[in-house]
Amino acid sequence: MKKIRSDRPQTKKTDDPEREIGSYVESHYPIIFLATLEEEHADRMIANILARSQRRSILEWNMARGCVCFDTKAPLSTYVDQPEYRDLPDTLNNWLNQELDGHFLVIKDAYLALRDNPLAVARLKALANKIVHDDSTYATIFLVASQSNVSSIVPPDLEKFITIFEPPPPSEKDIKRLIDQYARQYGRDSVNDRTAARLVTELRGLSSYEITRLLNRGIQLDGAIKEDDIELVRDAKRQIIKKGGILEMVEVSETVRDIGGLKELKKWLRSKRIVMSDLSGAREYGVEPPKGVVIVGMPGCGKSLTAKATSTMFKLPLLRLDVGAVMGKYVGESEANMRRALRLAEDVSPCVLWVDELEKAFAGTGSSGHEITRRLFGNFLTWMQEKTTPVFVVATANDVSSLPPELLRKGRFDDIFYVDFPDGKERGEILGVHLKKRLQKRKQDLEIDIPKLVRDTEGFSGADLESVVKDAIEQAFVEQTSGEKRQPDLNLLLLRLAKDTVPMAKVMEKKKEEYDTKFREMGIKSASRRIRRADKRVRGPVH
Ligand code: ADP
Repeated sequence: MKKIRSDRPQTKKTDDPEREIGSYVESHYPIIFLATLEEEHADRMIANILARSQRRSILEWNMARGCVCFDTKAPLSTYVDQPEYRDLPDTLNNWLNQELDGHFLVIKDAYLALRDNPLAVARLKALANKIVHDDSTYATIFLVASQSNVSSIVPPDLEKFITIFEPPPPSEKDIKRLIDQYARQYGRDSVNDRTAARLVTELRGLSSYEITRLLNRGIQLDGAIKEDDIELVRDAKRQIIKKGGILEMVEVSETVRDIGGLKELKKWLRSKRIVMSDLSGAREYGVEPPKGVVIVGMPGCGKSLTAKATSTMFKLPLLRLDVGAVMGKYVGESEANMRRALRLAEDVSPCVLWVDELEKAFAGTGSSGHEITRRLFGNFLTWMQEKTTPVFVVATANDVSSLPPELLRKGRFDDIFYVDFPDGKERGEILGVHLKKRLQKRKQDLEIDIPKLVRDTEGFSGADLESVVKDAIEQAFVEQTSGEKRQPDLNLLLLRLAKDTVPMAKVMEKKKEEYDTKFREMGIKSASRRIRRADKRVRGPVH
């Protein structure tokens, strides 16, 4: 009997997939699942694996035409007169009764063909069993589908036969080769060296089909691939993200100058920026690529603002992961969604990935809900630990009552910061930011009694302060324009509005106590000040 491993299928990512898949073929693994959108790429891989192996021929079935010639994709003549062989179950039956001696059996559109098709699944299982147990049957089945969530395609009893491979997108070397091909084809002037070097980085994460299409478009537009074609590449990436539906590419204008206070967090981010801007130099020096940061704490105090400013500071695109959207309706779907989102982020890296409302990923509701969120969060942490791509994660959370200690364990995030309500000095800075932003053109209006305003805004969040400034300026404009007052007193308006505001710290009084205790227990650093106890914190002892 041929031996196969019978554990749950794991998705394999490898740098030399053909060689690795070849070794699985030689070890008689019955079903190889190629999770790729690019059928041409899959065909090339299968043909190369065949050439390296002892196998002889390839039989292919696809949904549109039934059994086809693998090379030409023309329907096989014998089946043209026999429509019953167009169906997958009939084709599988045919293969079951055929002598298979060194065959690759390729099933395209596997997701569509196997979904809600128990007969096809049963026959596929029978065929896999035959391959495993019958020494005279020498074959390997290749399932090709874009959907990498195997559990949504095949029932669990088939899982043990399947090994999943996700071919990696072209490497920088491959991309360079593709660009060189274009330069050769269209003449030396068609691609200049600087553009080529930038394109290699920008095109990372796209499939070879997408890359070729973009290069073609660049050439078609003006006969050459130029600096401005990089915008085409960015558009293509935005499209990919949009199609995924879980990630959003956020356009940002906020910079670190827009953040008042949070001195320690800003200092920390500046040091990470130095590393992120020269990753290869840092690596050579022995510095590990940064993984990211968790920012927790009070609402309206600048957590999201910091996530956005990080992207501008690092000069990298910002992707926002909506944890709520990841939580799919069906069991298993959430995990697949999360995997897809993380893979997408890796594909467009280098980037900043903002995981908003992280608490939703670990605040389970109900017993089954809890199990899913626990697994989901576990997957995320494992990815954080293993990731080697330059995806800098900024995870933000308000409600930290169920903040799991695993978050702190070494090797996941680089650090975790606690954002509290701003103190007096910080309130002054925040007021300054928002006043300056709005009164830039009217310098005289900047004569505001900030110290008095600071005294009157104890317990205000950054968002509270912003709305006081915003509303006061609006009222001043209304007073002036309506002729009510020739020179409205902005100072007075600001103070009056501050008095009418219930500070967020008051609203959150109970929660704040709870959070403060939790942060002290976990020894989380303050985003605003250096605190000795925080420096001495113990990192993630747990589990
Ligand atoms: P959260 O901490 O809930 O993510 P946000 O970052 O979304 O809060 O803050 C809401 C708004 O309040 C910001 O867009 C910004 O205008 C203002 N704000 C909050 N904190 C600060 C801050 N530290 N400096 C300047 N503005 C701030």
